Amino acid sequence: MDSNSPILCKSCQSPLTGKYCSACGEQVLDKELRSLSYLFKNLLEVLVNFDGKLWKTFLTLLAYPGKLEYFFHIGKRVDYLKPVTMFFMVNIMFVMASPISDFYVNYYDQMHL
Ligand SMILES: [Zn+2]
Repeated sequence: MDSNSPILCKSCQSPLTGKYCSACGEQVLDKELRSLSYLFKNLLEVLVNFDGKLWKTFLTLLAYPGKLEYFFHIGKRVDYLKPVTMFFMVNIMFVMASPISDFYVNYYDQMHL
C-alpha cells in the first residue's frame, strides 16, 4: 500500500475521510481508543453523566417498564443503552452490590447448605 492510496474502512472497504466511516458509521481505531485509560474514561463518563443514556435508560425502565421495549421495537434507540450493554451494566451492578444485599451467600454457606 503506497502513501497515496486512501485508508479504507475495515467493515465496508469505503474510503475514510474522518474519524467515522461515512458509509457504515464504523469508528476508526487509533492508539488512544485501544488504551486502558480511554476505557476507564468512557466508563466513568457513562456512569456520572446524568444526561447520558445509562440514567435515562434505568429511569425509563423503573418508571415505565414497557416503554423501553416499545421504543426499541419502533426504532427509537439512540437515546437509550443497547440491550446488551444494559445487560452487562446490570450484571456489574449486581456483582458489586451483592455483598451488601440479601442475595449474597458466602462460599462456606454455598458449600455446606
Ligand atoms: Zn464503513
